[in-house]
Amino acid sequence: ILQDLALVDGLTGLGNRRQFDIYLEQCVARSSRTGVPVSLILCDIDFFKAYNDTLGHVAGDQCLAAVGEILRYLPLRNTDRVSRYGGEEFAIILPGASEYAAEQVALRAVMAVRNAALPHPATKLEKKFLTISAGVGTVSGESASVDKLKNMADEALYQAKRAGRDCIATINGRCDLPASPQEG
Ligand code: GH3
Ligand code: MG
Ligand code: MG
Repeated sequence: ILQDLALVDGLTGLGNRRQFDIYLEQCVARSSRTGVPVSLILCDIDFFKAYNDTLGHVAGDQCLAAVGEILRYLPLRNTDRVSRYGGEEFAIILPGASEYAAEQVALRAVMAVRNAALPHPATKLEKKFLTISAGVGTVSGESASVDKLKNMADEALYQAKRAGRDCIATINGRCDLPASPQEG
């Protein structure tokens, strides 16, 4: 049990960074051997510093737990894994998923947070609700590496932020969301 707790994030109950690192390593190693792709989605809460500054860190922690709960209940394959990657960042590892398949999951993640309609009075977006942005990376085969996959997802996340947030991106370009209450 202690061994298990060492892999669990106390705030969200999701896998922690250590569990993430172990599983990602496994999935990338398998991809190198078999050529089957592995995708990584990095999700980051938008304007979360402002959330904490306005509502306080206790509310911030509750918000993180709520987002963790939303992501935990996304419909995923049983080999997919949602983890808390860092402070206000979450990661989804999807072994066997193409970039396109991972994009669809990332879209569902962004939509699920949006649909939860958690108030965020300090967001710079027009509608004052909590949103996340997501970056998708995919590697496969001999050239696959953990660092390459993380860097791809991280760069894509940066592009989603730059594109205005509350959206997803791959390193090949931004992918808009379907018609949104955010814009309506
Ligand atoms: P962006 O939309 O670009 O992501 O902006 P941001 O404000 O979300 O990003 P930034 O990196 O500036 O701030 C992240 C904030 O997340 C800062 C920190 O106070 C908060 N944070 C990180 N971990 C925790 C945590 O465990 N609990 C709480 N309450 N806040 C946290
Ligand atoms: Mg961040
Ligand atoms: Mg953020």
